[in-house]
Amino acid sequence: MFYGVDVGGSKIAFAVFDEQGHECERRVHPTPQASYGAFMALLTEWVNAADIRWQTTGSIGIGFPGVLDDNGLMLAPNVPAIHGRDLKGDLQQQLKRPVYADNDANCFLLSEYRQGAADGAELALALTLGTGVGGALLHKGQLVNSRRGGSAEFGHGGINATLLERHRGLPLFPCGCGLRGCLETYVSGTGLARLYRHAGGAALSGPAIIDAWQRGEQEATDALSCYLDILAAGLGALMTQLDPDVVVLGGGLGEYAWLYRELAHRVPEYLMTGVTPVPMRPPVFGGSGGVRGAALLARCAALPFS
Ligand SMILES: [Zn+2]
Repeated sequence: MFYGVDVGGSKIAFAVFDEQGHECERRVHPTPQASYGAFMALLTEWVNAADIRWQTTGSIGIGFPGVLDDNGLMLAPNVPAIHGRDLKGDLQQQLKRPVYADNDANCFLLSEYRQGAADGAELALALTLGTGVGGALLHKGQLVNSRRGGSAEFGHGGINATLLERHRGLPLFPCGCGLRGCLETYVSGTGLARLYRHAGGAALSGPAIIDAWQRGEQEATDALSCYLDILAAGLGALMTQLDPDVVVLGGGLGEYAWLYRELAHRVPEYLMTGVTPVPMRPPVFGGSGGVRGAALLARCAALPFS
């Protein structure tokens, strides 16, 4: 059996998968916010209960919003309870078994590569459009990871300069990464809210802005038009530079069917001459991609890709 853990800023999910990849059990809990001890206790309790229930010693994979540093410490500023901690090492010691951990966007793409939207792709790219923007690249069945696991940070490239000409007065928003004008600051859920306020709208969530756009509200129409243009330019640059076989969009915004129709119209304008648009697909596993991908980290370590 393989156990997948998907760590988010507000909730944490745990699921048990059998050797064939079927999900047997799932648990969800609010993420312990400050206490590392409480975080460890929750995971240990889940794992021990699953071991007893399924009469096994399951391998563990963890997807989290961040990277591992040179010493194996988790850098995850949005999850203070594990930020700067050796969660992988401590769990291995406490639970006496291998524990694997990777960035959550990597887990998302790994899941879509196995019988999902990126199945069979030689080079697959994922962009997750949630609270932040995650990126992942998978080549011939292997996640492309740098020595420090910090590769594919597509959300932290600057936006296309021609957008500043087209959308006069578009601010260069400061990003949590220390740079300004990063793609993430415009095309994440919080980025959409920022664009809406810039267009004269109130402080609304991403889904509420999309509802207003569908009702034809002017501020929401302006914000979405700008949002789609910036996202199309970002995807166009990635397609020109990397030429993947498929692009899968995850996160809350990646679930909207209209997003793919809009992008299909807008992306070609941002491609280098001669570059063919790459198919953009919604995820097959949707919200379960995180835990499934995390469990696959453990499964792939045990059984090589077939
Ligand atoms: Zn950034």
